[in-house]
Amino acid sequence: MSTKPLIVITGASSGFGAKTAQLFNQASYPLLLLARRTEKIQALPLNFEDVLIEQVDVSDKKEFENAVRKAEKIYGPTDLLVNNAGVMLLGNVLVQAESEWQTMFDTNVLGVLNGTKIVLDAMIKNNQGTIINVSSIAGFKAFPDHAAYAASKFGVHGLTETIRQEVAESNVRLSLISPGAAETELLTHVTNEQSLSDYLAWKELMGGLTLDPQKVAESIFFIYQMPQEVTIREIVIAATKQQ
Ligand code: NDP
Repeated sequence: MSTKPLIVITGASSGFGAKTAQLFNQASYPLLLLARRTEKIQALPLNFEDVLIEQVDVSDKKEFENAVRKAEKIYGPTDLLVNNAGVMLLGNVLVQAESEWQTMFDTNVLGVLNGTKIVLDAMIKNNQGTIINVSSIAGFKAFPDHAAYAASKFGVHGLTETIRQEVAESNVRLSLISPGAAETELLTHVTNEQSLSDYLAWKELMGGLTLDPQKVAESIFFIYQMPQEVTIREIVIAATKQQ
């Protein structure tokens, strides 16, 4: 069994989360990997010796907490939580279904608050631990058709910086990573065809060269590898040609 501390990654079934899981797996960390589509995690190229997989919707705090406690019984306290699970549903605020606003707030904001609350008490008591929240460039800059998504990601920025200040004295770290456009499954959930085609046209302005998700995983690893007394508060990372 690995002697390294436990790392919990949400949204590990695709995109940034899957790449981050692979990177920490290669470095022999015990992992708790969470998503709703667990079969996709099972299909990742991982050494499954110290990997736990649980079907969790991050907006369900009880389900989320049960999974974390189960893993902590085996591997000890969570040393890193990567709050990565998220959904981006584009649409002009006048036409977008309110249910899409709700989905984004439940996942992108409440999911992050849930995860944070689940691990934070023990981290404070132990004076040890790191939480890395995956936000977005849309967490500090406006783009058309992003009203509710931007509101959720501005929210991630706000809650991360607030909690970072609240727990700094106990040596617990909170960091943000704010990626630009990258090739993942994120766009496949957009239901508004006009918003989708506008986004794809915007991406073409970058010559179709968006950010490699592997670079986001490497940035998360870099933040974590700093000594506990050093916090990288935010990394903003995007394809060079993104404006
Ligand atoms: P993907 O769609 O590839 O991955 C999203 C992940 O989140 C999946 O593993 C999905 O798993 C999980 N997820 C979604 N909803 C829930 C939920 N309710 N409960 C648990 N897991 C959930 O997209 P990305 O990898 O791109 O997204 C990761 C993060 O990066 C998101 O927070 C996104 O907002 C952010 N981001 C992405 C950018 C991009 O251009 N790709 C740019 C900037 C930020 P499952 O469906 O199996 O539950």
